[in-house]
Amino acid sequence: MSLEKTAPMTIQDRLEPLSEGRFRFACHPKVPCFTECCRDLRLQLTPYDIIRMKNQLGMTSGDFLEEYAEIRPEEQGTLPMAYLRMANNERKTCPFVSPPGCRIYEGRPSACRIYPVARASRVHPTHDAVQEHYYLLREEHCRGFSEPREWNVRDWISDQGLDSYHEMNNPWMEIVTHPAIRRAQGFTLGQQQMFFLAAYDLDRFRSFVLGGRFLQLFDLPEEEIEAIRVGDESLLRLAFRWLSFTFLKKPVLNVRRTGSP
Ligand code: SF4
Ligand code: SF4
Repeated sequence: MSLEKTAPMTIQDRLEPLSEGRFRFACHPKVPCFTECCRDLRLQLTPYDIIRMKNQLGMTSGDFLEEYAEIRPEEQGTLPMAYLRMANNERKTCPFVSPPGCRIYEGRPSACRIYPVARASRVHPTHDAVQEHYYLLREEHCRGFSEPREWNVRDWISDQGLDSYHEMNNPWMEIVTHPAIRRAQGFTLGQQQMFFLAAYDLDRFRSFVLGGRFLQLFDLPEEEIEAIRVGDESLLRLAFRWLSFTFLKKPVLNVRRTGSP
């Protein structure tokens, strides 16, 4: 999928394909624009971003969403998407920016990690491999491009700790870019609530899975149940399967014979 066509309109004409894979960039406290970009952002959060941020802050998903997220439909869709809520001040600063830098650096979201690179990915329809394309997003105000340090994309991804983000964001991208979601004429309130619960409010989704009818309807191996009891990543993988099962009609969950979803 071409990112020039699917990225927000405001950045489409600033994306340069990174065909050679190399670029010059550095961001550190000595650049004159340091933290200037951490304001007035339309920063979409993936479910994995929310896990990393809420855990870094020691919050539940519900408290995190209430304090730091705005939930609204995406540009072309009607399912709820999560955005980082900027502070209610004149500069609309990110709630986590401080003079020495990002207060949640270890848990900062994927969009902050990957800049100035942008990534488009899709799962190949026949052999399940993830195809990736990388672009450079050159923002005029960003002085990081004047720094001498040279990178290739692979090293940048690794340096920014993005491998685990990509692994967890790939199934998410597959769901939200799927034609069944993209071409849908609208979703019921119940579907929107179900999507919100599984994608964003993971702590409540855990209670829903372990405490409700979910396990009567779906047959999960004992080890998976134990893993989701204690681990957010295992739970998120299950959430993605549930979303794929429900919205994309993929047979990725075993329905018990005695129940129906
Ligand atoms: S504008 Fe660029 S160089 Fe400046 S702080 Fe932001 S990312 Fe770093
Ligand atoms: S989360 Fe951190 S890196 Fe991202 S915009 Fe906020 S302060 Fe900047």
